[in-house]
Amino acid sequence: MIHLRSPEEIEKIRKSARLVSKTLGEIAARIEPGVTTLELDRLAETYIRDHGAAPAFKGYNGFPYTLCMSRNEEIVHGFPSNKPLREGDIISVDCGVKWDGYHGDHAYTFVVGHVPLPVLKLLQVTKACLDAGIREMRTGNKIGDVSHRIQEMAEAHGYGVVRELVGHGVGRDLHEEPQVPNYGRPGKGPRIQNGMVLAIEPMINMGTARVLQLDDGWTVITADRQPSAHFEHDVAVVNGQPEVLSTFEYVEEALRKKGAVII
Ligand code: MG
Ligand code: MG
Repeated sequence: MIHLRSPEEIEKIRKSARLVSKTLGEIAARIEPGVTTLELDRLAETYIRDHGAAPAFKGYNGFPYTLCMSRNEEIVHGFPSNKPLREGDIISVDCGVKWDGYHGDHAYTFVVGHVPLPVLKLLQVTKACLDAGIREMRTGNKIGDVSHRIQEMAEAHGYGVVRELVGHGVGRDLHEEPQVPNYGRPGKGPRIQNGMVLAIEPMINMGTARVLQLDDGWTVITADRQPSAHFEHDVAVVNGQPEVLSTFEYVEEALRKKGAVII
């Protein structure tokens, strides 16, 4: 069933979502060539626990880490590792927390040093797809309107839209109904209603939409090994309009301090 959240519940989800935002800001400050994603994972876990919250991914269906760290052709659900980040990599960092009974789930794709222009464009378009999808999250629309807008923008650039993984409701559980695909038809699917809280998360591939799963049982990669980007926000519907509960402001502040490119 689709849960419609009270203003008090939405505040709790916002609190969790913003802790994720701050955690991503901590990660942003430290991303550079030579750093390992396992170091960043430990840092994130400590940061979350120091705030009195719990990492929501750790142990979720057996996932062993705090962060999903998906590099280059990895789309989502990558494992942090001892392999250092390299100049020219992109790294999608997805983080979830549970705090006071409610979840936040939010992601950003970072560049490591300088990346080729076409890769930068993939990231910019994926983030624009997220914003475009969010703008459709108003009463009078259906989930298909959100899905369609994301698909339309991604495919206008010739990119592949991942079908196997989708956005979702977020609240007491990390993943709730409804599913929010990044592809679909306008006017189809559940009605958007006040009190809905959705994690909108386009996963957009530079090439084919087709995916493969690695033998670790988690990591999903592009079938053609071209790069993939992933941006995610938690969004509530309030007074008929979308209200973004998570924020990229901590990430952007950290990137600005480093003089790094802001997507
Ligand atoms: Mg996520
Ligand atoms: Mg999610």
